[in-house]
Amino acid sequence: MFKNINDLNDWKRIIYLFIIPGVFIVAATKLFIQVVQQDYTVEFYVSIIFCCFFVAGWFMTYRNWKLKVVEYLMFTLFFIYYLFTLIIEIVNSIDLGGNQTLSTFIIWTPLVIMFIFMSMEKKWALLTSANLLILSIVPGLMVYGKLTTEFKDSLIQLYISTAVYIVVFSFAHRLIQAHAEVDVMRRQFYLDSLTQVANRYQIDEWMTSFIDGKWEDRELSIIFFDIDYFKNVNDTYGHKVGDDVLREVARLVKSEMTEDHYFGRWGGEEFMVLAPVLECEAFHVAERLRKVIEDHNFDEVGNITASFGVTGYVAEDTVDTILVRADKRLYSSKEDGRNRVTGRTLSGI
Ligand code: GH3
Ligand code: MG
Ligand code: MG
Repeated sequence: MFKNINDLNDWKRIIYLFIIPGVFIVAATKLFIQVVQQDYTVEFYVSIIFCCFFVAGWFMTYRNWKLKVVEYLMFTLFFIYYLFTLIIEIVNSIDLGGNQTLSTFIIWTPLVIMFIFMSMEKKWALLTSANLLILSIVPGLMVYGKLTTEFKDSLIQLYISTAVYIVVFSFAHRLIQAHAEVDVMRRQFYLDSLTQVANRYQIDEWMTSFIDGKWEDRELSIIFFDIDYFKNVNDTYGHKVGDDVLREVARLVKSEMTEDHYFGRWGGEEFMVLAPVLECEAFHVAERLRKVIEDHNFDEVGNITASFGVTGYVAEDTVDTILVRADKRLYSSKEDGRNRVTGRTLSGI
């Protein structure tokens, strides 16, 4: 779940996946208490609707299915419930002769405002939260003269704190958005725009971090491969078809990768896989990739092949030395007739 955070929406999903169970527990506890006390008022039925919605909303968020619908429904429920509870509190305080303050529901005010800012564009969020504030001031104003001093005090505190939350979340909104944009840009920086796999900068960084000892796994092998006679593809079918072939190769190889493989486009029609395994094992991975590419039927072009160079990390290696070795082996594969893997197998070269 955390590995595939690509944009603001993914962040929102993760936050909702944690927030929804929290509010579900609050609503379910309330429901439980109402059942025990046999207190079947309107609030009881509202709590049931909330609980059902939270369960459905959590699964929809988890499956990443119609997140906007979940947001709008959640927003509508919160908005109505918030105002509805506030009005009931105000009315009750008059009916009961006052002498009380707003109950615990007001501690949820920041969550409602935060939710408004998370689910909407800033302009709409400001407008909506300002509306919420005005709509919560109106009933208070209408009966202001009938309220006790304590109740007036807690109402004024609610209004002022809501206004402060609106200002705070509107700044936070800006910060989060800026942060998310930088995050997306950083990801783009490490992504090859044609094939959407890692680019050379990223591969370089992976290798450097391995050499610097940051990888937990101490084995590393490099599989370097280059499509055979790719220039002919461009010359025969055009550059666009050539691009499609590169995309398809990237997709094919990516689908063969496991969690601990790191794959990217080195440049042109050259790709690289970093695998946390010994060279002899990487050789078999390369052999499998070679076969997958050879057997695949590419649109328009038909069959193509690729040549591979495989090498394992040895002590004292630098990024350059390991790359030079992989490149030499790739070159040997080309020299030996292409569509083959050069590297050490279990039984030696
Ligand atoms: P070899 O088997 O020796 O590797 O032959 P080759 O034709 O694959 O090698 P060569 O280096 O002569 O040609 C590579 C070609 O890859 C030339 C270049 O136009 C093409 N190429 C590089 N990047 C791209 C790209 O992004 N899109 C397309 N369509 N072609 C590209
Ligand atoms: Mg080539
Ligand atoms: Mg090449």
